[in-house]
Amino acid sequence: MALLTLTELGKIYASEGNVAVGIRGVNLSFERGEFVAVTGKSGSGKSTLLNVISGMDTYEEGEMTVDGETTSHFSEAEREEYRSKYISFIFQDYNIIDSFTVLENVELALMHIEDKEERRRRALELIDRVGLSSHVKHKGSKLSGGQKQRTVIARALAKDSPIILADEPTGNLDSESSREIIKLLKEVSRDKLLILVTHSLDEVENYATRHIRIFDGAVASDTVLRAFTPVSVENITEDSHKTSKRSARAKTIRDGIHLGAAIFKAKPRLSAFLCLLMVISTMGIFLITSLLKIDLPSSKKNMFTHMDGRVVITTESGRALTNDELKSLAASHGAKSYMRYDILLDNLCYFTLPVMDEYGFYDFVMMQATVGEDFGDNIIGRYPTAPNEVFLYLPISYKPTFGKSEVELDTVLLHNTDLTVVGVKYYYDNNLTPKCLFTEDGFKTATATYYLTSSSLIPVVNISEKNNTGIVEQISLTSILTSFELDGDEAYVSSRRYSDLKATEQYSAVLDVSAVYYSYNYYYVDVESSKNLMHHEVSDEHFTSASPGLISQTMTYGDYAVISDELMRSFAEQMLSDSYKQASLFFENDKAAGAAAEELQKEGYIAVPSYTEYTPSSVEAIIGIILALFMAGIWLAVIIFLAFFVTLCTRRALTAFRNDITIMRSMGTPTSVIRIGAYVRMLISLIPAVITVILFAVLIFTTPSVNGMFRYLYLWQYAAMFLGMIILTAMSTRGQMKRLFKTSVKKSLVGGGDQ
Ligand code: ADP
Ligand code: MG
Repeated sequence: MALLTLTELGKIYASEGNVAVGIRGVNLSFERGEFVAVTGKSGSGKSTLLNVISGMDTYEEGEMTVDGETTSHFSEAEREEYRSKYISFIFQDYNIIDSFTVLENVELALMHIEDKEERRRRALELIDRVGLSSHVKHKGSKLSGGQKQRTVIARALAKDSPIILADEPTGNLDSESSREIIKLLKEVSRDKLLILVTHSLDEVENYATRHIRIFDGAVASDTVLRAFTPVSVENITEDSHKTSKRSARAKTIRDGIHLGAAIFKAKPRLSAFLCLLMVISTMGIFLITSLLKIDLPSSKKNMFTHMDGRVVITTESGRALTNDELKSLAASHGAKSYMRYDILLDNLCYFTLPVMDEYGFYDFVMMQATVGEDFGDNIIGRYPTAPNEVFLYLPISYKPTFGKSEVELDTVLLHNTDLTVVGVKYYYDNNLTPKCLFTEDGFKTATATYYLTSSSLIPVVNISEKNNTGIVEQISLTSILTSFELDGDEAYVSSRRYSDLKATEQYSAVLDVSAVYYSYNYYYVDVESSKNLMHHEVSDEHFTSASPGLISQTMTYGDYAVISDELMRSFAEQMLSDSYKQASLFFENDKAAGAAAEELQKEGYIAVPSYTEYTPSSVEAIIGIILALFMAGIWLAVIIFLAFFVTLCTRRALTAFRNDITIMRSMGTPTSVIRIGAYVRMLISLIPAVITVILFAVLIFTTPSVNGMFRYLYLWQYAAMFLGMIILTAMSTRGQMKRLFKTSVKKSLVGGGDQ
């Protein structure tokens, strides 16, 4: 049986209304061992014949059978398989991959050999056979025409396919090189079918066994030149195609990885560019993940700020609890302590730092006030002991402000109250809320200040000016802990309108106004040597009575009365005692708190341990889910945008790659291997990006300034980010693949040649 039979074979090119005949009515039969020389004028159809035989192009008429199997019904995939099994193609314009070395070019065709060492050994053997041993490590672009063609022949040999097709392989070579190439081809194709298109019969005269002349797409003559030695099929070692599907897939993946690494290595500049693009895009994903608060929608919410052992209690009737009642409840249930006014535990306070930023604004921190919490031994400084002392629990971004080994900045401001920072502890997870730990008295004063200044019950001082017609004006209260020594019912009043006045407080007795100063006439003094930078100076003449000199801070504009902190507390107490209906009890731990809460419930109180979570209402839940989906949608949209961006940026650079891919395909490298190779190449380009992300994760964990800029991400968010990076790579690779595989091999070879 003939290896190859063509019956009435015809190929028509139809393009833009023109119909050109490639070949027509071709009847030919070929055997293994033949050396067929094909000649004919330019445009007569020689290349078309070879392209059809190679399966790189389809045909419209007739039939081609290979080893008895008809091929007209072949799908693209089947033709690919046919190519990879039967065909080695050698072109006039030596299609080798310029960016690959001779060795790599040959190894590419030896992909079917599993063992790396063996593959190398075989490649070197073949290179030696075509006489290129001295150029093993030379890149394709550095070779002469003859050397390139030798590489191609070595590659064709590597495939060890039964049919070698050569389309004017010597067309671009000088006669000396041409002769060598033809000789080489003859040598290596002893047991194969060699069909060689040439413009001069002379150069193949000594070797060819048969001569076919093509004219106008048809066979004009078919002459036997000499006898050939037929090769029996048994002699041909059947490729180990009987491997299982599973191992075939594993091999495809291995080959793909190998190819991907080779492509990455072969184009260092393009690869570096890709890496950079990936780093930029990944930083984009990183930023968007860090900026968008993408939370899991199902997350439950804490009803109260969780403190170990805390129980929040209130009466069913809505009656305010009394101190005595709380005291006895605490005693009967074994609570360690209790807190009558716990409002600050569940609200954030706005603390001003006496540090100005570059725009002249004061820095501030939202902190949650706390009391009795233990932050362990590993702290800077100490815990507070006086009412005006605080301990801060802050993210590490505040390290430069508050000090690394000792407390450097020792003042913070709550409303108008100076507080001395005596200790700090830093944490890394900047999603957590900073905390400010007070003593019990300090916490009470803070509660009073907070409540008096931020509740709807605005506390006021009634002012009646002397020599006044009796109109009552109201101004707000503020307390000062550090700079003024105020006794009992004394007050300073800051006002630009009054010089001499009397004040009456709503709740208690008449206040003794001991000083009035003008609040408009102040300026800040930046005392660098002092740690309390937040002072403003009010010159003596503005005081109607003895001045304390430096007046600590004034953030309040307008009129206000300054009173002592005890007075502040007592006012707050008076106001809160009948309006504030909640309190906290503190037990040994959450377990004890849970048990106590149950008992309290039985006694008719509403008691909730602070670890209690509540499931949001369905409306809240739906809004939560919509919000989460929306955020995730934005996140995904950014990644898709970045993927298009990467695809766009690499578009031009990959045109070169397209030729390489075409060569690989014409050699019979399976599309699946090329695809995997392309993905692998992109994944390798992702490595610097992954390293950058890991680096950033470490920086966020350790470096205060970076920790302050980026959100601390949890493991699942990093997982999402890596998923994003994989989507990015997959999408941009898909984009490339779509472009690269749009055209059939033949067309892209033609197109590739033009560029
Ligand atoms: P040869 O290799 O002998 O010079 P070809 O096989 O390349 O000739 O071309 C045979 C004929 O088919 C010519 O008329 C040519 O114009 C036409 N032809 C070849 N390739 C194409 C194509 N891709 N599209 C349209 N016509 C083609
Ligand atoms: Mg041609």
